[in-house]
Amino acid sequence: MAKIYLSAAAHATDNPTKCPSPCGENTHCNQYMDMVERRLKALGCEVKRGDKSKTGGPALQSRVAEANRWGADLYYVAHTNAGGGRYSMTLCYPSEGSLKKAEVLHRYRQSMASHKVKTRTDLYEINATAMPCLYDELFFHDNEEDCARFHNGGMEMLAEETVKALCELCGVTYREATAPTPSGKPTVKKWQQAAIKDGFSFPKYGADGKWGQECESVARKATVKKRVFYLNKNLTRLVQRVVGVTPDGLCGNQTAAAIKRWQKENQLTDDGVIGINSWKKMLF
Ligand SMILES: [Zn+2]
Ligand SMILES: [Zn+2]
Repeated sequence: MAKIYLSAAAHATDNPTKCPSPCGENTHCNQYMDMVERRLKALGCEVKRGDKSKTGGPALQSRVAEANRWGADLYYVAHTNAGGGRYSMTLCYPSEGSLKKAEVLHRYRQSMASHKVKTRTDLYEINATAMPCLYDELFFHDNEEDCARFHNGGMEMLAEETVKALCELCGVTYREATAPTPSGKPTVKKWQQAAIKDGFSFPKYGADGKWGQECESVARKATVKKRVFYLNKNLTRLVQRVVGVTPDGLCGNQTAAAIKRWQKENQLTDDGVIGINSWKKMLF
């Protein structure tokens, strides 16, 4: 079984993010790495994680030493970025072996339109590790929109993509988190409450459980389709329960395919987009 070593950002002086409430790069990366670690372990990978209590240079040195001693097959690092860019990139040593591995991760970064692979030789963890090191810079902590995406489903989506890539790299069979069986129609009130959480409003009647003009107009705007995960998280969850997908609020390939299946079964245009006709079919 392949051995994966995980190292989340551990800056001695944590970099503040542009999140509305106080938040830091180390916090983001540890939250993300918690999820990667949990999923990899659930899939049967051998995983070791760098000690969270140590920071700065000493943390890097002891992590690399530990991974080298352990004989890890892969060293995976997660940081967030700064300097005015957007989204993410993967850094690695400019050797054929490392670049090939980075390309696999790159293939799974489909939610990040501008993702790229870059080589670096000046980073301690990339240089001092005895095994290939993949060094992710995920989102820009100096960009408000990137920070909002991180907290609104982007983090889970990236972690899942990383898990898929690491499984492929280590020859471990990837499985989706267990999918539930489809459930029945949600009530209009539940739908209204989810829409309100997603930022829509019913100014006159609120979540009154009755379908009227206000609902019609929100249903027209509150479309759920592939990759709008960061806008309609609660409505997406509601849809996922109906079509039988794990309700994680992220509309990716699996959810889009399940929506199409459900639309076909319900004599709707199977375009994978939940618009007003699909909402009505779902609710009545
Ligand atoms: Zn944050
Ligand atoms: Zn960093």
